[in-house]
Amino acid sequence: MLLTNLKVIFKMSTDKNVRLQLRQTKEMIKNDKLYSTFKMLKFALKFLTRDKLTSHQGIYYVNFAFPVFPSPAFITFLNLARDKQNILTSHAFCKKTAPLSICLTITTKCNYDCYYCGSKDKNKTDLSTDDWKKIIADLQKMNTPIIFFTGGEPLLHPDLKELCQCVTDKSLLYILTTGDGLTLERAKKLKEYGVFGLGISLTTCDEIIDIEKRQHGKCYQNAINAIKYSVKAGLFTTVIAVIPKNEVNEKKVV
Ligand code: SF4
Repeated sequence: MLLTNLKVIFKMSTDKNVRLQLRQTKEMIKNDKLYSTFKMLKFALKFLTRDKLTSHQGIYYVNFAFPVFPSPAFITFLNLARDKQNILTSHAFCKKTAPLSICLTITTKCNYDCYYCGSKDKNKTDLSTDDWKKIIADLQKMNTPIIFFTGGEPLLHPDLKELCQCVTDKSLLYILTTGDGLTLERAKKLKEYGVFGLGISLTTCDEIIDIEKRQHGKCYQNAINAIKYSVKAGLFTTVIAVIPKNEVNEKKVV
């Protein structure tokens, strides 16, 4: 994996924004007793030999669970440390002021009926937009670097624009969606509202099985279209493969 990542690492080394945030990071952590250049390199190497490094519009990405670099959300991540004088020690001992990432079920409404669903509930009343705005403000005050909007189907939320816009760039905002209701115009609008990326769900690359599993005639096509629209709109685009435990075995990967 390290070899695959070398090209991106070279690109990073020539990027002035990367160098700027590296300096800023060093300033924040250099007084911590756990800090040493060797340890930092060892830490970076651990990621780079395990995860694929991706570049997207001048930012670099390791995985969903880690803020992109360079970004204000990465600084929020450092500030998660309870002891701001000893950021590394706080992180190492999980002394943090907030979760690293959080999924907010902004609505339980959904047009699908996946057999593995654990969150859809037609009879539940969603929290109000004002409640969500207060929760988001609190999470950001606590230094939560990554916020996911999920559901149900988050694109069905009537005040999605308002909710997206109240997440400042202090946190990365992803929407986890089936793609139901997404158009290219809407994807562009989401980007304008400050959404960083979409996680688009797909259960399999077989359309018939996908329809069987999610009980919606257009689920497969919706996902494929959503991937195209999301990429075109410049959103960071990932596919979330939903693979239930009973379908993972040595002989068969669905
Ligand atoms: S798309 Fe998500 S919320 Fe909707 S039924 Fe499927 S798992 Fe449940």
